[in-house]
Amino acid sequence: MANHHAYRIVSRNGGGKHSIGTASKVVSVAGVAFGGRRPVVIAGPCTVESLEQTLEIALEVKSCGAEMLRGGAFKPRTSPYDFQGLGEEGLKILAEVREQTGLPIVTEVLDVRLVELVGRYADMLQVGSRNMQCFPLLTELGKFGKPVLLKRGMASTLHEWLCAAEYIAKEGNTQIVLCERGIRTFGAGEYSRFCLDLNVVGAVREATYLPVIVDPSHATGRADMVPWAAQAAIGFGAAGLIIEVMGPHTPRSQLRCDADQAIRPATLRKLMNQIHKMGKTEEAEFMERKTSVAAV
Ligand code: PEP
Ligand code: MN
Repeated sequence: MANHHAYRIVSRNGGGKHSIGTASKVVSVAGVAFGGRRPVVIAGPCTVESLEQTLEIALEVKSCGAEMLRGGAFKPRTSPYDFQGLGEEGLKILAEVREQTGLPIVTEVLDVRLVELVGRYADMLQVGSRNMQCFPLLTELGKFGKPVLLKRGMASTLHEWLCAAEYIAKEGNTQIVLCERGIRTFGAGEYSRFCLDLNVVGAVREATYLPVIVDPSHATGRADMVPWAAQAAIGFGAAGLIIEVMGPHTPRSQLRCDADQAIRPATLRKLMNQIHKMGKTEEAEFMERKTSVAAV
């Protein structure tokens, strides 16, 4: 394949279109296995706003079966006048909530200069969509060595996304989980925030051994669509989901970021039951299918 040299470390296939190549990798984050037999659900607020808010949501999502907590402390906001997150105070809140709930945390690192600081608190460092091609940040995270959640740039091709992962891998860190979070197309902005590209989930699984999860929250921008998108993602064989959840009684208008897309804990509970009923397209099954295709 012509472009394999560009992401030679993270490529699944050494050879032709139907070659099996490297087996799927399980990325373990504080004991939570991405790419294993069951899909992993990460859930939590868009933004850490207070200890009470974060703890309440964390306890709720844990009781639903979520295995990791999300929450932004350093937020990439379109307008510089919008709430930028609590910064280190937010990281301290996340650490406190981890202490009380046992849930490992993933949070975004916005900048090379923040890798040390965020890395001191987080179990997994998130590279946001707007930073997917921030090459110095990727290189620094490669050197840092902690697991990375690499979100797809909202206008990035699969090739560019895998090359971004390669920047991290090249420094010796292959603890990378990819995350499809919606891309810009003509439909984006009209009836949903972005366009959830589920086809890419199948394509990623062919192209790399790294696990890929889906973010139905930012992809749709609509709480009512999140459960559908989440189930469809699992149907495509995603290794997990990252979902924004708000408190059960918090007025929606009170949220300081992404107010339209957060789901309530009750919705998460229902959704997780459905996902468990669907079962998972296990990696083993995927590899078997690839084998039979190759044999034809
Ligand atoms: C987020 O997950 O907090 C976030 C900002 O997402 P994205 O980078 O995909 O927009
Ligand atoms: Mn958000």
